[in-house]
Amino acid sequence: MRAFDDPSVVLTRTRIVERLLDYVRFDTQSDENSDTCPSTAKQLELGRRLVDELKELGLQGVGEDEVTMDENGYVLAELPGTATGRVGLCAHIDTAPAFTGAGVSPQLVESYDGGAIEVGHGVVLDPADTPELADCVGDTIITTDGSTLLGADDKSGIAAIMGALEILLQEPDIPRPTVRVCFNPDEEIGRGADRFPMERFDCPVAFTVDGSFTGEVNVETFSADKAVVTLKGVSVHPGTARGKMVNALTWMGKLLDRLPMGEAPECTDGRQGFYHPIVASGDAAACTLQLIVRDFDTEALEERDRRLERMCAGLMAEEPRLDVKVEITEQYRNMYDVLSGYPEVAQRLEEAVRAAGIEPRLEPIRGGTDGSRLTEMGMPTPNIFAGGVNFHGPSEWISTRVLAQSTCTILNLVQLFAEAE
Ligand SMILES: [Zn+2]
Repeated sequence: MRAFDDPSVVLTRTRIVERLLDYVRFDTQSDENSDTCPSTAKQLELGRRLVDELKELGLQGVGEDEVTMDENGYVLAELPGTATGRVGLCAHIDTAPAFTGAGVSPQLVESYDGGAIEVGHGVVLDPADTPELADCVGDTIITTDGSTLLGADDKSGIAAIMGALEILLQEPDIPRPTVRVCFNPDEEIGRGADRFPMERFDCPVAFTVDGSFTGEVNVETFSADKAVVTLKGVSVHPGTARGKMVNALTWMGKLLDRLPMGEAPECTDGRQGFYHPIVASGDAAACTLQLIVRDFDTEALEERDRRLERMCAGLMAEEPRLDVKVEITEQYRNMYDVLSGYPEVAQRLEEAVRAAGIEPRLEPIRGGTDGSRLTEMGMPTPNIFAGGVNFHGPSEWISTRVLAQSTCTILNLVQLFAEAE
């Protein structure tokens, strides 16, 4: 393998920074209240730009002559390999609904001096609460102007992949399997995998480039279920309710009180799971409580579901006139359940990070990624860092050196898959 471990080489030989600065100016915010795919039409504008850029680079279509974006806003492209095999690289086009992505005006801080950065609009990046900054002294830092998010999540992932493609095209002698690229919409609203063109993409393994700071790799996510608890009481005029009324809201309150407080998101971290009530609605006659249930261990998750069911059965035992139904649906599963069957994937990923001169940090994600669903759908898809920090808000920032390290990691990874064939 020709190890890429010098981010300055990537920064001089590719247009990753220029591309990132261009991509973040597109407003690509997704919308969970929309039923369309993509959820917002504005995501298609960046999609079209990416199709043009991939064509300009000289990439081919996947199952088609030309690079295209499909009707759902998925951009697919292929770089033919020198070795057998195929590996996929994915990044998402949309930005989070949590904060505006309209009118992003990226600011560059060159030769960062290690101090606090006044971003604007009262936003300050302080090394005291953002320890990653201490690792970036001397770097060029890209920030917002304080009024929007930056969108490094995940436009830095797109830029890092584009940079890797640029170098692979400049150096046809670097051994590589066929590389397929997918830029998809709507990751931030949990729908990135919904219409993923799995059959066309057809890669035995892929990577999302959607992680945060340097060295972060994720081969584990939560396993996730949703529970909807419906309580039906007995509705009677309150003036004559004695001994007759069963107030559904009162019993929902009891259920909420019986959820173990130590297993709430606000009381857990690391590898601990939780119950999290998210929506309550209804009235004294009937009401509904929605909860999300999370754990890294899928069996422990299922045990947590059973415990919730037992709590609900307990309410009915105490008040036989109360009717409680629990409906549990699966949301996604820890990708490690599948990835543990492909140990070489995580091994190569760690090796690729080390070859970039970085110590890998394997961090379990307390959430899901497109990769959790894609892995479940049969394509093992761990996640690689793309460089950004403080996602989804105005204090988001990225060091261009770390962005280039993401490209280095991708280049090393691709070569490891060529060697393995
Ligand atoms: Zn992301």
